[in-house]
Amino acid sequence: MADEKEAPIDRLWRGYSGVFKEFDDLMLARWMAQTLGQLEGRVWRYSHPLMGAYRVAAEVAHERQIWLKRLASPPPAYGAAPCCRAPLLPLISRDLIESGLVCVHCNGTAVPLDEVGDAMGELKKWADAYAPLHAVAHWDDRQRKRAANYNRALDDAAVAGEQLLARLGGELAPRLLASWPAVVWEDQDECLDVRPEDIPC
Ligand SMILES: [Zn+2]
Repeated sequence: MADEKEAPIDRLWRGYSGVFKEFDDLMLARWMAQTLGQLEGRVWRYSHPLMGAYRVAAEVAHERQIWLKRLASPPPAYGAAPCCRAPLLPLISRDLIESGLVCVHCNGTAVPLDEVGDAMGELKKWADAYAPLHAVAHWDDRQRKRAANYNRALDDAAVAGEQLLARLGGELAPRLLASWPAVVWEDQDECLDVRPEDIPC
């Protein structure tokens, strides 16, 4: 039964996943293994349509534990994620400090921040700079009143956030390609109303 509290966007994506639910396990495993090959060697925006399709497939695959069944071999460059044994495809989200690099397949921690390697310092600095901007969207009444003009403060935070996200995708994410065959970065912030198209390529 549909959950009445489900957000419209979640309902939409659940509808999208229907196509993969019609795949049998072998078809799904093969589609994902082939798509991982196409993803290899590049940094991907979270909003990219190919990544969107892969994320939907990954959710269905995780529910069915496809990767534990060893039905298709992913490209050899992908190691197994410690969280769920799916091929390791890391996502850099703004929750970097708490979650590390997130697993696209199970949304668990695929790589704790301390194990990211050479880029760790820069990523930590990035997250420390981003957190106070994101926090503006969650200011309580007292904090909002203290700002002369809250809407202005929110707009300024969004503009600064767009710049930082552009740096994440353009500069920091590519450095991780030295350690992982493909890397995804979250190119949006719904709390600050930053959309993928707001972030310069
Ligand atoms: Zn996982």
